[in-house]
Amino acid sequence: MAEEKQVDVVVIGGGAAGLSAALTLARARRRVVVVDAREPRNAPAAGVHGWLTRDGIPPAALVTIGAREVEQYGGRIRYARAVAARRTPDGFVVDTDRGEPLHARRLLAATGLTDELPQIDGLRERWGRDVVHCPYCHGWEIRDRPIGVLGSVHHALLFRQWSASVTLLRHTSPAPDAQEAEHLAARGIAVVEGVVSALEVADDRLAGARLESGRVVPIAALALAPLLGAQDALLLGLGAETARHPSGAGTHVVADAGGRTSVPGVWVAGNVTDVVAGVVQSAAGGVTAAASINADLVAEDTRVAVDRRRAERFSAELERVNAERVLGARRHGLDSLLSPPS
Ligand SMILES: Cc1cc2nc3c(=O)[nH]c(=O)nc-3n(C[C@H](O)[C@H](O)[C@H](O)COP(=O)(O)OP(=O)(O)OC[C@H]3O[C@@H](n4cnc5c(N)ncnc54)[C@H](O)[C@@H]3O)c2cc1C
Repeated sequence: MAEEKQVDVVVIGGGAAGLSAALTLARARRRVVVVDAREPRNAPAAGVHGWLTRDGIPPAALVTIGAREVEQYGGRIRYARAVAARRTPDGFVVDTDRGEPLHARRLLAATGLTDELPQIDGLRERWGRDVVHCPYCHGWEIRDRPIGVLGSVHHALLFRQWSASVTLLRHTSPAPDAQEAEHLAARGIAVVEGVVSALEVADDRLAGARLESGRVVPIAALALAPLLGAQDALLLGLGAETARHPSGAGTHVVADAGGRTSVPGVWVAGNVTDVVAGVVQSAAGGVTAAASINADLVAEDTRVAVDRRRAERFSAELERVNAERVLGARRHGLDSLLSPPS
């Protein structure tokens, strides 16, 4: 592999995790390319909340600024989808749907996750607006409004922190047990039986949840817990290990605290490995993984330098110089011994 064709790290995914990793790697003077399909998970939301100094920034603006910061240090961004990744004798090759394959010594996947939403008419269109999942991302924006919570007692008790008007819509979930029922009652949370079939919208605002019975429960926001699935297809192809996340919220790619997966040379960061991480935690995961990758590359660079140095000690040129220094004219062997002394 020609040196100039291979970069140190290809980062797949240019959201908060991937860009933070790329920034750290570029500042560590590593050659890094980010491949990004430009579909960050929070794209439907108007603003990113809980990001200190940038609270409320539109998701698209966050990644635009991030990409610029990476490029400022020599990192490259390729807007494309990675469609395959495979191991080579000296690293990895990543095929994309645009441009030449990318060769790298190490891989970092920061591909995020998909939110699997329930099949309810009109729900997908409201996702990230008045249909939400995360109280810390959206709770403030829907405070004091009538909030419906789909199926989860835990979520209902949580969102009660933001509004006194919370209704648990049982939908397809089991009935609360005695203790849960007591908790809900104590917090003034009504429980409505019946499957939700559609959302009612008026003037581009959520107005209610329609049940199969035809009854409409008036709500201004709906909270739910989607099933979370790591975008792990490329990693599975490389043999990475996945598991159910300890939170029970979905699947994730298993990695150590530094983001190192079970596949040598492959790291992960952000929602692909930590499905409950927000933007700040995902960015932090990117920085941690970048430092771990850089340490691994430093170790490899050192190994290579030591091998080269040892090889140089026994080079033909060094042997010639040493022999001349020690043996002088006798270095050519028997000839000098056979010739009579003058
Ligand atoms: C509606 C909504 C609102 C949210 N609001 C907030 C909030 O206010 N505050 C907060 O802290 N968190 C919020 N979150 C959570 C937040 O979205 C995640 O924490 C964050 O996006 C995770 O960052 P990431 O870099 O891991 O993944 P992402 O931001 O999803 O980035 C992954 C990137 O990888 C790319 N990608 C995936 N596969 C490939 C491939 N094969 N090739 C190339 N590129 C690929 C995607 O296109 C995407 O650009 C919200 C989530 C949702 C769903």
